[in-house]
Amino acid sequence: MIVFFCPGNEDSTPKEITRWPNQQDWQIRVFPNKYPVIDNKNQKHTRGENSKFINRKKIKGVHEIIVESREHNAQMSDLGLHYLKQVLVIYFERLKKLKQQDSIKYVAIFKNHGERAGASLKHTHTQIVAYSKIPAVIQAKEQVCKQRSCGYCEIIKYEKKHQKRVGFENQNFIAITPFAAKYAYEIWILPKKHLVDFAQFNQEMLIDLAAIMHKIFKKITQLNCDYNMIFQYGVKDLHVQIIFTPRIDNFAGFEIATGTIINSVFPEEAAYFYAKDNISF
Ligand SMILES: [Zn+2]
Ligand SMILES: [Zn+2]
Repeated sequence: MIVFFCPGNEDSTPKEITRWPNQQDWQIRVFPNKYPVIDNKNQKHTRGENSKFINRKKIKGVHEIIVESREHNAQMSDLGLHYLKQVLVIYFERLKKLKQQDSIKYVAIFKNHGERAGASLKHTHTQIVAYSKIPAVIQAKEQVCKQRSCGYCEIIKYEKKHQKRVGFENQNFIAITPFAAKYAYEIWILPKKHLVDFAQFNQEMLIDLAAIMHKIFKKITQLNCDYNMIFQYGVKDLHVQIIFTPRIDNFAGFEIATGTIINSVFPEEAAYFYAKDNISF
């Protein structure tokens, strides 16, 4: 068993950034990744080539780990409502802090759960990669929303009216299984209001978000599969969202050859799966 993230092994991680609560028996702990994909020191991870078609850019940044529980075997679905809210507070505090750094252009927050989703350690954790580049996918999405009204606000309006792809809904948030989902059982949580910064979430919204996340974690546990969770925001005016991608199918030759994705589960079936039991705490 690999115990780097367990209590008693704090010395095996780089110097801690923060913990909650601030006492010996921590529940949530944040520290730099010992094996960062990116750092501020040297460029050993990039290759030195330049040509008409090969573009080399220097990128700097930081790579952090947030361990959400001191229990080695705890899953996100085991965390209670107020605990999960505290986890969100820590995610968004780190996001805010890192965004303030001059060299940082984007802060990616994501969870890889299980080997198929890219995780190498079992102890639950979320990663933050903050770096000096705005991802092309974010730029493209912002461009589309700039040309017309916010696509996500329109999707929310449409899905609320038709109710075929709504998994969960409460006062402040809606969770939908998107019409053209890339992944089987993919689900997005969106604030109903057009908000572009996670720092805009007030206490009531954090509780509402934690409530829907809890239900999604429970349902993904029922699917018994690996998954990714991604917190997406833009740099100008992109509607924030939390994306969950269960990893059931692999992309095969057809997807690689064409970029066309075959999804084995209709989003309407996925929405029914999420909505059918009324999960409570
Ligand atoms: Zn552990
Ligand atoms: Zn919007």
